[in-house]
Amino acid sequence: MAKIRGAVVINTERCKGCELCSVACPQKVLSMNENVNSKGYHFAYMAVPDSCTGCESCALVCPDTVITVYRMKPKKD
Ligand code: SF4
Ligand code: SF4
Repeated sequence: MAKIRGAVVINTERCKGCELCSVACPQKVLSMNENVNSKGYHFAYMAVPDSCTGCESCALVCPDTVITVYRMKPKKD
């Protein structure tokens, strides 16, 4: 069975860099960007996008609900 792939979209302007999502991710996908948003926070980003399974743990723990998770069905050849 093909692996389910996921992707997350983070509203970087509303992220406050609390790191809860990166701690909650079982695949260690998320890290804080070295750049900052307009409020001066290091925002979360997908450091290892290929490992995301779309499990939604990150979105569930984000206190500001700025993460949207998408699941992609594996393509059939
Ligand atoms: S959906 Fe799951 S695997 Fe993907 S970044 Fe969020 S916690 Fe990690
Ligand atoms: S949990 Fe939410 S606010 Fe905290 S770093 Fe992750 S995306 Fe940003």
